[in-house]
Amino acid sequence: MQFGYRCEDCELAVFPVTTRSELQWLRDRLHVVREVAKHSDGGLDSWMMEGFAFLDEHQGHSVLMVSRR
Ligand SMILES: [Zn+2]
Repeated sequence: MQFGYRCEDCELAVFPVTTRSELQWLRDRLHVVREVAKHSDGGLDSWMMEGFAFLDEHQGHSVLMVSRR
């Protein structure tokens, strides 16, 4: 089972390679991660960069946590 984010407005989804709780964590702390990303040169894990980029791009849209097999 893979977990990811889905934007209902754009009908796009991403499935970064990580756990559901990590994705939940990232979503809840997007403002913190944004600050960390600003001050680190490629210091974020790839799943985090992928999830962060998606959430950032779809800010203000209806983004849900989804799963797929
Ligand atoms: Zn969107």
